[in-house]
Amino acid sequence: HAKMAGAGNFQFFSGDMTTRAFERMKLEMAVRMALDKNELHLYYQPKVDLSDDRVVGMEALIRWIHPEMGIIPPFKFIPIAETSDVILAIGEWVLRQACITGKKILDMGYADFGVGVNLSAKQLKQENFVEIVRTILNETGLPPRCLDLELTESMLFDNIDRNIKFMHDLKKLGITLSIDDFGTGYSSLSYLKSFPVNTLKIDRSFVMDIPDDRDDMAITATIISMAHSLGLNVVAEGVETRIQAHFLKNKGCLCVQGYLFSPPVPEEKFMTLLGRH
Ligand code: C2E
Ligand code: MG
Ligand code: MG
Ligand code: MG
Repeated sequence: HAKMAGAGNFQFFSGDMTTRAFERMKLEMAVRMALDKNELHLYYQPKVDLSDDRVVGMEALIRWIHPEMGIIPPFKFIPIAETSDVILAIGEWVLRQACITGKKILDMGYADFGVGVNLSAKQLKQENFVEIVRTILNETGLPPRCLDLELTESMLFDNIDRNIKFMHDLKKLGITLSIDDFGTGYSSLSYLKSFPVNTLKIDRSFVMDIPDDRDDMAITATIISMAHSLGLNVVAEGVETRIQAHFLKNKGCLCVQGYLFSPPVPEEKFMTLLGRH
């Protein structure tokens, strides 16, 4: 397009690019400052066991609560933070915060309560990441077995051998690992075998059209059955209806997350929600 439009428009085009680069830079600085200004918050979504409808854990999901713009969802700023080392500071903050809250819940008497934390690709490459996790577990007192780190397939594929070693090092801390958004990446099933993960999280895109989409039902049932055959746990994301929960339970997927039970909520609200179960 730019070529066909001639020099005048090209000038305009590159000017626009500069503006966009500038906007990005401003946003990156704003995210960096958001952390210092305590504008980043963790919301928590319950993980529910369908056999007794009990909350067995939670996933920590970040929000930026901006004084003027209100609640900014992660897809609007995490990708920007990931273009620089800001994501490492945010990632460490998320991990510490989630472990602190998790420890509080354990101390309230919820034994073996699970704390799920999402990782970013950059954290996998962070030289001392395993040490950071160890330190945070020590500082917060959260038992390692209660921490579950969520990784996506696409994050793992760019340097498989290195990442498999990385996963083994994390597992040695006593924590567990999940593959998030399972089924949406370029996963090769032969690699799945070599990943030392505990759990597959079925992506919401397979769950949302149950029971209208027969193919999604077949795919979901197959992932559940494969997970079990491989000795892995399975969690379904994005469960919004009773019909979906019933289908999943029927196929043997007992652990679910979704709006049917609760959207992600602030810590205080999560505690109230826990009390009700
Ligand atoms: P994810 O880890 O796959 O998280 C699940 C997303 O699905 C969350 O979106 C959650 O709010 C949403 N969700 C849960 N149940 C339902 C449902 O029943 N219906 C619908 N429509 N949505 C549901 P959220 O919080 O906007 O997070 C989006 C993504 O941002 C996450 O996907 C994760 O990849 C990333 N993310 C969130 N927090 C963090 C973080 O602390 N660090 C990093 N690196 N990434 C994060
Ligand atoms: Mg996740
Ligand atoms: Mg997911
Ligand atoms: Mg996702």
